[in-house]
Amino acid sequence: MTSRSQICSDPILVLHFVLRTVDPFGSPAAVMRDILQPYKPKDHLQYHEIIFDFGTGEKVEKHVKMMQALVKQLDKVGFDPERVEVIVYSHSETARGDIWGGFEPDNSVGRGKHKVITPGLPVAYTVDDFFKVLFSGGIEKYMKGSTLWMLVCGHMVRESNAFDTFKDCIKRYEIEHSFAFSAEMFHACLTTSFVNAYVERVLVEGFEVQDVIQDLLIVSPRLAMHAAIIHIHVTNGFRRRLPTIVEYTQGLTRTPDAKHSMVVSTYTFSHENLRPFGNTLPYQCPKCKCVRTWDHIVIASKPFVLSDESKFACRKCKHTITYKRQHHQAQVILHFQGYRGTSNGSGKLVRKGNTAATGWLVSVTTESAAVALCPTVP
Ligand SMILES: [Zn+2]
Ligand SMILES: [Zn+2]
Repeated sequence: MTSRSQICSDPILVLHFVLRTVDPFGSPAAVMRDILQPYKPKDHLQYHEIIFDFGTGEKVEKHVKMMQALVKQLDKVGFDPERVEVIVYSHSETARGDIWGGFEPDNSVGRGKHKVITPGLPVAYTVDDFFKVLFSGGIEKYMKGSTLWMLVCGHMVRESNAFDTFKDCIKRYEIEHSFAFSAEMFHACLTTSFVNAYVERVLVEGFEVQDVIQDLLIVSPRLAMHAAIIHIHVTNGFRRRLPTIVEYTQGLTRTPDAKHSMVVSTYTFSHENLRPFGNTLPYQCPKCKCVRTWDHIVIASKPFVLSDESKFACRKCKHTITYKRQHHQAQVILHFQGYRGTSNGSGKLVRKGNTAATGWLVSVTTESAAVALCPTVP
């Protein structure tokens, strides 16, 4: 604990939405609940696991009814959470980045002991349709000011149409913070240490995400090698909780920024020899098919400055691959090791010693958080 921190015992609601057929234990939601439990008086933590499957019209109705029942249950005890954590654990479809909402009905052929059941195929929805059904029956009111964790494969953030729709949904539902991950074959269990740190720093100690993001990144080396982390923050939007002491003091010394905007930050881990600018080195050399044969070629003329280009050669056949630093990745580098100097702006860092250089490349974009006129506001 630091002198800035506090212990928050405010009421918190955790909604864990899990696609039927996905194992809920793969998600860090239960870990979140277990860490929170000791800090919350008995009635200050509500955790609900919602197994969803709305692949048919009939199943959609069932899901809506289930949500209505949950809202009724929360209303009955007069639960008014100051924080809402929403975890969505599903798959996203490869080509368009749509999200799996459920399954078609199972098919059965034959009778008696000859009966063969073929499971129904998955049904994917566009991101907005997916949310429209998932957050229905009154539960959508809890999305306002919540933190949303999207534990789905990275297609949703890689396909620009799907990602734009996702951002629109965040604005429409007035979600304060959201996290998504870029890995094509995403493994949710690798987020556990990141989520642990989030629970401790943000939910228990009461810091704001953007102030402690470095603490969350530094404890997540395995997630770092797996996926880029996308954090979306809507500033000055609706929030459920009162300002913290720190924020209150800051507000007195800073000019309050009344702008309502959406800040999208992408954190990509880069390791000089293993993950150049966040890219995964191919397992095999495409030319000679040898396994793991890559040598990083250090450019002799620029050995001391972080370059914009990184070359690797196959030890066996000398085949080379070149990676370039993306322009948008160039802004800031956090937590660099093996370098010395300022990480801001030009990214001119000076090498220090012989350790491999690692760090988080950060790209930040800001856009208006105003909602585009839409006739079907949920
Ligand atoms: Zn998947
Ligand atoms: Zn080779």
